[in-house]
Amino acid sequence: MIGNVPVGGDAPVTVQTMTNTATSDAVATIDQIRRCEDAGVDIIRVSCPDVESTVALKQIVRAARVPIVADIHFHYKRALEAADAGAACLRINPGNIGSAERVNEVVNAAKANGCAIRIGVNAGSLEKDLLEKYGEPCPEALVESALDHIKLLQDRDFHEFKVAVKASDLFLAVAAYQQLADQVDCPLHLGITEAGGFVGGTVKSAIGIGSLLWYGIGDTIRVSLSAEPEEEVRVGFEILKSLGIRNRGVRVVSCPSCARQGFDVIRTVQALEERLQHIRTPMSLSVLGCVVNGPGEARETDIGITGGGAGKHMVYLSGVTDHHIQDEGMIDHIVKLVEAKAAQIEAAGGIAVGAAA
Ligand code: SF4
Repeated sequence: MIGNVPVGGDAPVTVQTMTNTATSDAVATIDQIRRCEDAGVDIIRVSCPDVESTVALKQIVRAARVPIVADIHFHYKRALEAADAGAACLRINPGNIGSAERVNEVVNAAKANGCAIRIGVNAGSLEKDLLEKYGEPCPEALVESALDHIKLLQDRDFHEFKVAVKASDLFLAVAAYQQLADQVDCPLHLGITEAGGFVGGTVKSAIGIGSLLWYGIGDTIRVSLSAEPEEEVRVGFEILKSLGIRNRGVRVVSCPSCARQGFDVIRTVQALEERLQHIRTPMSLSVLGCVVNGPGEARETDIGITGGGAGKHMVYLSGVTDHHIQDEGMIDHIVKLVEAKAAQIEAAGGIAVGAAA
């Protein structure tokens, strides 16, 4: 458990991100956490590099609606303070904090405060002895590092932990996770670290995290982008939605558009994606520019729009033709239809046509 969120076993795969505000600035950090919560984040990590951060952590933990993971590097005292401040999890590598006595103190603080621990092995910060042994970061080195850290916790009868073996090279990361999954049965936190900017990092993460999830490996994910944390959350959910692992919000089916389009598909989809972010109910919406593929997709989605001639477009509800709309006011009209459908699905406590498809 990370706070009240289960990770591992049959629990849904959770989506995480990490704040990039100064943690000591509690107000700014809470603001950013709110935006991530609105995007659906399950767990949030905040860095605690100094004592000002762990002081602010108390206020942040109280304000957050999701569990907080305190990210600690080297300074074991920050881990003790973070556990005391109410962090639900400590991201710390017990092998990197010095003496056995310090490891004891951190484990005892975690036990006393009901904190989990996340071991976060990273190819960029592998232990010196492993780099010397293997010559370079490789899957075997990442796995050995993870097993060493795990042993330190297990030797102290601590079992509430999850593990990551991240690398920016996705071949390395995927191979390391595969090897680790063969050797341990604790929950695995997936990530392709430092994946890059929004477009490149999204593709890389989708391939790396997506491949592992497809193999059945992974219990919680963090997409690492040089982009705002709420964008990482959205990309994380898109990966889960694409694999049919977890549905949240509107799954949009839309065409790339071409000369046959009856309306501006690209602009319409951009506007709808922006305006429909508040919808949490799993459902589907197809937006296609013409009758070539529009009716077929509309039959499989909860709401479908198919472009027609002379600015007159067909609306399908639950796969059936329902009414026409014009260009004018089209986006407002679709938003209202989606909101109404989401409310209807929620009221029925049922599953949408498209969400099940
Ligand atoms: S659905 Fe119609 S408008 Fe969209 S890409 Fe296909 S042919 Fe072009």
